[in-house]
Amino acid sequence: MLVRFWGTRGSLPVAQKPDAIRRKLVRALVAAGGRHFADEQDAGTFVDQELDFATNGTYGGATTCIEIEAGDGDFIICDMGSGLREFGISALARCAKGHPRSYHVFMSHLHWDHIMGFPFFAPTFDPAARIVIHSGHADAEQALRRQQEEISFPVPFDWFRAKIEFVTLMPGTTYDIAGLQVDVMEQHHSHCSFGYRFTDGAGKTVIFSTDSEHKIEKMEGEADVAHFFRDADLVICDTMYSLADSVSMKEDWGHSSNIVAIDICHEATARRLALFHHEPIYSDEDMLRMHRESIRYEELTRREHPLEVLCAYDGLEVRL
Ligand SMILES: [Zn+2]
Ligand SMILES: [Zn+2]
Repeated sequence: MLVRFWGTRGSLPVAQKPDAIRRKLVRALVAAGGRHFADEQDAGTFVDQELDFATNGTYGGATTCIEIEAGDGDFIICDMGSGLREFGISALARCAKGHPRSYHVFMSHLHWDHIMGFPFFAPTFDPAARIVIHSGHADAEQALRRQQEEISFPVPFDWFRAKIEFVTLMPGTTYDIAGLQVDVMEQHHSHCSFGYRFTDGAGKTVIFSTDSEHKIEKMEGEADVAHFFRDADLVICDTMYSLADSVSMKEDWGHSSNIVAIDICHEATARRLALFHHEPIYSDEDMLRMHRESIRYEELTRREHPLEVLCAYDGLEVRL
């Protein structure tokens, strides 16, 4: 199973501004300390091996879109944030080489940052494509059509050429879709959201749980979150706020913290956690700091099983 992140930012897409690029260049030059590089390859090795990720890279700014390569070979996508646009370009290139033109999309919920990529998803104009949109919400089609009404967008939904289907999933039910076992959990969020547990034939499991205000106490009316996350190989979890923010001014805003996510993953004996749905005002330096603090917190609170803490970025690939 391969998990590829096309969009990791929460709420709103963001771009790197000139002052952020300048800070990276200044830090790189200071780190080089006047060193001489024989050629670009030599300089590239220095950049890759001696600079931190906030300096030699960026966490990126597209909103939620994740691809899972597993199952029977159809495309599997979680959410249609602005990252979906770039995924669509990649998918068409792969279809040109013979990849099946079948797409299974699993929607956490219908907030704008999770659907805004759909009008820019090139495969919708492929007449040979079949796009199945699975959602816990019965109003998913309404949400997608509404964002393409004339008042909001120039291209109406009905102009799409692909065969587009909507399937409503029930939380607490186990499905077999595209060669994967799929479990659905209802989550605490405005208009509610849904988490997904995907298990492939080899028993590898990835959890997609974004836009959910996980509280330490048990979720009402739903199976315990830790049980849903149990023994997962990768948990992709909404960690939008620091713990201080999430328990003070941003309580009930519908998002979780890195600390709560680590606590639940420890409880669940999960193997990896990807911090996800990053706050748009956080710089790359802020993100790197939060990632390091999260790793430190995991070490301090670890029980028997270590939990690897990743910080998702646009372009990250995780093989399970
Ligand atoms: Zn969101
Ligand atoms: Zn939301």
